[in-house]
Amino acid sequence: MSASVLETYQNAFANWLGAAHAFGFWKGRVALYAILKGLGIGEGDEVILPGYTCVMAVNPIVYLGAKPVFVDIDPATFNIDPNQIEAKLTPRTKLIIAQHTYGYPADLGAISDIAQRKGLRFMEDCCLSLGSRYAGQTVGTFGVAAYFSFQWNKPYTSGLGGMAVVRDAELAEQIETLCRTELVQPGAREVNMLRAQLLVYRGLIYPRTTALAQSAFRFFTRKGLVVGSSSTCEFAPTMEPDFFKGMSGMQARVGLRQLKRVPRGMAHRRRMTETYARLLAERSWPRPNLPTNIDPVLVRYPVRVADKAKALATAAQHFVELGSWFECPLHPIETPLEAYGYHTGMCPQADRACRETVNLPVHPRTNAATARRSVDFVARIGAVSEAR
Ligand SMILES: *Cc1c(COP(=O)(O)O)cnc(C)c1O
Repeated sequence: MSASVLETYQNAFANWLGAAHAFGFWKGRVALYAILKGLGIGEGDEVILPGYTCVMAVNPIVYLGAKPVFVDIDPATFNIDPNQIEAKLTPRTKLIIAQHTYGYPADLGAISDIAQRKGLRFMEDCCLSLGSRYAGQTVGTFGVAAYFSFQWNKPYTSGLGGMAVVRDAELAEQIETLCRTELVQPGAREVNMLRAQLLVYRGLIYPRTTALAQSAFRFFTRKGLVVGSSSTCEFAPTMEPDFFKGMSGMQARVGLRQLKRVPRGMAHRRRMTETYARLLAERSWPRPNLPTNIDPVLVRYPVRVADKAKALATAAQHFVELGSWFECPLHPIETPLEAYGYHTGMCPQADRACRETVNLPVHPRTNAATARRSVDFVARIGAVSEAR
């Protein structure tokens, strides 16, 4: 029975996006793993991605014996800087991953040009970007494949969850085979725990206590008391035996409900983004120089502040739900960067963005008062002063 809910969800998601095939998984990172494996990425291959990401988006590359190659970001969009990609290509390069950070679409025109010229494939990381458009087309439909996450902090949540969407029929067939032969099904116990957490999470989080609930939730996650999105061993490049896990019927049911609310959610995120932009402009906050051919739907509103540590330490007492993404080039701060071949100074704009950037909420439980309170708060902290 749960298989049919999953199929309904997969079809609904593919239809919504305008993609040919969709495959649900336990987490987003598992969807990435399926795509990489389906593409035949393996030992010695190199995969290009921005040096401003989540370690969970890097692990599947390493699990398959391939090497992540980090490229610096464009400071305006926090996305991979296409001008720096070619210098990182080698005969072993197989794939470029375009991540749409915070919801800002990556420069897909330039990336697809490079891919075409060099005979490479590219895919999209849409974990932070649901419904954003590049040149009028929704992200997730440009590359050979894309993946989405439905973890707690993403555009919508089913607690945990991930979706791989695929344009290429041959790749879809590969992934289908992988799912048939290697996919582990989640156990009843972990699904029940996840369901309980969804209830608690919904109960805890309403606007006035959001900051508190967020820090409580983060605390419990760190202590391993909830099915957090990550256990500590996932901050190291070793694959757990049951990593390749499918999506439960429970997640699919919740996801289907959430998918119906996406248009409303997108409109809300756009309104909040406009409100932030207006309130920040009123305070002469520096404006990011964004490309004109993008229509982003943000998952969080990034701002660069003069003192990130102070901002994070004092936000909760002002009832501001301040996000720390990204704490380091391969978020979170616990990641042993060297184990992934990342060295400080490799991507100076990414290093800098990690030092300066915090983010403000635009999710469905926010409103104009949230925006005013948040902007008052960051204005007191102050914007970064140096010119970039
Ligand atoms: C959250 C996230 C992932 C991983 O998603 P999970 O569902 O937690 O596995 C990958 N890439 C980016 C950019 C993310 O933000």
